[in-house]
Amino acid sequence: MNRTFSAPMAVDSAYASRHLASVPMIDIPTLLGVAAAFLVCIAMLLMLLRPHRASVRSWLAMPFLTGACGCMALLLPAPDQGAASARLGTFFVLLAFAMGWQAIRAIFRRPARWATLLLPPAGWLILALAVFGPHRMDASDAALRAALAGLYCALAAATLVRERDPRLPSVRTLSRVLMLCAALAAVTLACAAWLPEPLGAAAPQTWAIALFSGALLLSVLLISGLVLAVVKEQATRSLYDAAARDPLTGLHNRRLFDEQQSRWDEEDRASGHARAALFFDIDRFKDINDRFGHDVGDQVIRLAARAAEQALRKHDLIFRYGGEEFVCILPGSTLRAGLAAAERLRANFERMAATVGGHPVRATLSVGVSASSGRQPAATRLVAEADRLMYQAKQSGRNRVIGALPGA
Ligand code: GH3
Ligand code: MG
Ligand code: MG
Repeated sequence: MNRTFSAPMAVDSAYASRHLASVPMIDIPTLLGVAAAFLVCIAMLLMLLRPHRASVRSWLAMPFLTGACGCMALLLPAPDQGAASARLGTFFVLLAFAMGWQAIRAIFRRPARWATLLLPPAGWLILALAVFGPHRMDASDAALRAALAGLYCALAAATLVRERDPRLPSVRTLSRVLMLCAALAAVTLACAAWLPEPLGAAAPQTWAIALFSGALLLSVLLISGLVLAVVKEQATRSLYDAAARDPLTGLHNRRLFDEQQSRWDEEDRASGHARAALFFDIDRFKDINDRFGHDVGDQVIRLAARAAEQALRKHDLIFRYGGEEFVCILPGSTLRAGLAAAERLRANFERMAATVGGHPVRATLSVGVSASSGRQPAATRLVAEADRLMYQAKQSGRNRVIGALPGA
């Protein structure tokens, strides 16, 4: 194949007929073939990624496969001096940008937005075939291509900006890189009439071809690396979350409680805020297991977890501490607020566990409540105190709440 192209985004019929002869240095078909093979290899590597969900793996591979289609389209034999294949190739490259945006959405479990994904590249293709090419509107054509590439980079960055989990540090870097790409596309768009092809619509220059290809390659490698880093950080986060959760109730487990205690102490010392702790235990639970079986026992444990979630605020923390024992930490709560929450919890559970699975279980629970009054080291002592008060509640008849300030 003797035909030469400057780059996927660059070639149109006007370019093919007017300028190709003046760009002698690169065997572009070979470059395009190598680029297509390279993109397919990356796509296959991504498909082999083990730790991630299958749907995400497919989405991650899509921009590379679509980009490879773009390179291949540019290599098609072209009776019309390359115009149709250049249009098709550019369409696929724009589609690859759209797929990149959706791949980032898929990582964060967002569904595909097919209209935003497909319509802009298809709209460009129609305009390019019906308006830009026939009327020699090279600058508008180049500006629209840059606008679409920039739009998808900006949309991808916007998807990431909403993710603020500090356990995914690569998200911030990735969103910055994408914002930079969007800004560069905006500059290209503004200067489309003066920049040489393939950056803009003026006569092609070697430096423009080198800059365009280099920037595209660098950004693809950088963004892919960062996307993989985010995926890895997400996998680590999932493993950590699974290890910190109790499978029966879905609540945090004792392990996380032990890890977090020292942090609460530091926070309270710094802020001077009060914090309340609730310790509760299901009454005569052994009897429930013996009379109704362990499955019903398990359901009662789950009900205790749900009753606590209903009685407390969103930012209060609930831990399954042991078999049928739970600890709740209420940041910023006084003893009075802790007692009110504990009473709501007790009443909720009494109502919810009256009948379980058709059995008259009539389960109840006993709660101990303790609270710190600011800058004193809190969590460890608070929970020990709440545990002691819970046993006091058991001794004084069960199905009740007892609270006091530590040392009172
Ligand atoms: P008290 O009112 O004094 O708390 O009496 P109790 O019977 O609840 O006393 P205890 O704390 O000794 O009993 C806890 C029982 O909970 C013992 C254990 O067999 C059972 N248990 C622990 N974990 C689970 C679980 O995950 N599922 C079920 N079904 N039972 C559990
Ligand atoms: Mg018990
Ligand atoms: Mg117990």
